[in-house]
Amino acid sequence: MKIDIQDLLSGKSSVMEIDEKIELSTFDFNKNEYKFDGPIHIKGNITKIEDGVIFVGTINAQVITVCSRCLEEVKQNMTISFEEEFTKSHEDLGYQIMETFIDITKLIEDNLLLNLPLKTLCSESCKGLCPVCGTNLNKSTCNCETQTIDPRLEKLKNFFNRD
Ligand SMILES: [Zn+2]
Ligand SMILES: [Zn+2]
Repeated sequence: MKIDIQDLLSGKSSVMEIDEKIELSTFDFNKNEYKFDGPIHIKGNITKIEDGVIFVGTINAQVITVCSRCLEEVKQNMTISFEEEFTKSHEDLGYQIMETFIDITKLIEDNLLLNLPLKTLCSESCKGLCPVCGTNLNKSTCNCETQTIDPRLEKLKNFFNRD
């Protein structure tokens, strides 16, 4: 999403208020897939600084991902505060001003990626899936034998049973 900052650069105005909604596609991050429920809302102010502009604001998104244990969908509300500079310098590794506009899509994506949870649980007490039959143990039970012997104990047992 491009924002025209001509008025800031020319000095016609000193601050620009931003209140935009943007649709982002699915994210793949850390082997998890993240989707968004509705548009991402970005709000804040862009002000002129010496060699560019600074954008201070918040990003609000409804993020949908799956529970790491039971794979059910989990929806989370994320609000991220950011403060990012856009400069005209091409030596700078940060965001750049392109002629008279800035592109804020990358800024939104970067901030979301930095703040996405690495692991999501539908609840702290999620029982997950049965490793044998895949039954969601939050919803029902199964009769699988899931008790496994710790391999170290197995060795010990063999040791004592040697002759
Ligand atoms: Zn779960
Ligand atoms: Zn089972």
